[in-house]
Amino acid sequence: MLADQAAIAIERTTLVGDIETARVATERERLRAALLSSLSHDLRTPLVSIMGAASSLITYGPSLTDPQRTDLSQTIQDEAERLNRFVQNLLDMTRLEAGALRPKTDWVDLPDIIEAARRRAGRLLERHTVRITLPPALPLICVDPVLIEQVVFNLLDNARKYAPPDSTITVWAGHDGQTLTLEISDQGPGIPPEDRERVFDMFYRVDRNDRQSGTGLGLAICRGIVTAHGGTLQADSGLNGVGASLILRLPMPETVPGVPA
Ligand code: ADP
Repeated sequence: MLADQAAIAIERTTLVGDIETARVATERERLRAALLSSLSHDLRTPLVSIMGAASSLITYGPSLTDPQRTDLSQTIQDEAERLNRFVQNLLDMTRLEAGALRPKTDWVDLPDIIEAARRRAGRLLERHTVRITLPPALPLICVDPVLIEQVVFNLLDNARKYAPPDSTITVWAGHDGQTLTLEISDQGPGIPPEDRERVFDMFYRVDRNDRQSGTGLGLAICRGIVTAHGGTLQADSGLNGVGASLILRLPMPETVPGVPA
């Protein structure tokens, strides 16, 4: 009798183990399929634009007007930058998956990081108003400046991608002595409450027919980077319930260089 029960228990355990193995395999298969479809779409779209613009420049170059030439050159530059961002995201994702994303921390000024990310976004933000509100004396923070700049850049890039042109993107930072908070809010469609956790899953995109290009990798990478710093990254509704807010919280070390503890 006992032997029968033990056999049933072992069978059950094996079954649960099999189901778990199958679930992991299915999830891996889903990620692989999503990666392949994302790769082919996100690599081909900018490449086709670059090839088209370059071919027009070569074929019709001498007969084109200056503005037409500038327009085609601009397309090549914009699309090459888009490819570059995509490849950067893929590299970050690979390092994150391999556990190789280890922050190289240094004492830095958050406003410098925000400014660097904003500068890097450059023309991407030219159709939006970016309002930055920072307290007068923000203590230095101990983070990897390259990685945190990547997070701020991705959040600004999403804000301008999903919010309509001519709307305002608000960057706010504050601290309570223990935690530094950075909020990037926009006036776009927002993220529905039921998706506010799932948007941090790899390849997850909110289904809304807006045909915005994207990989569904950016926020997963941002959260991975922030977690590696011991912080949190969450999505919420935007200011006054309009749009989206992405809220980054980082622990503040107890001692700051040059300031006695
Ligand atoms: P991507 O933008 O490349 O699709 P992300 O991982 O950056 O990937 O974002 C995941 C999804 O979260 C996006 O597809 C979009 O649906 C939603 N999302 C992210 N940021 C915003 C935002 N600021 N406003 C509205 N939706 C957003």
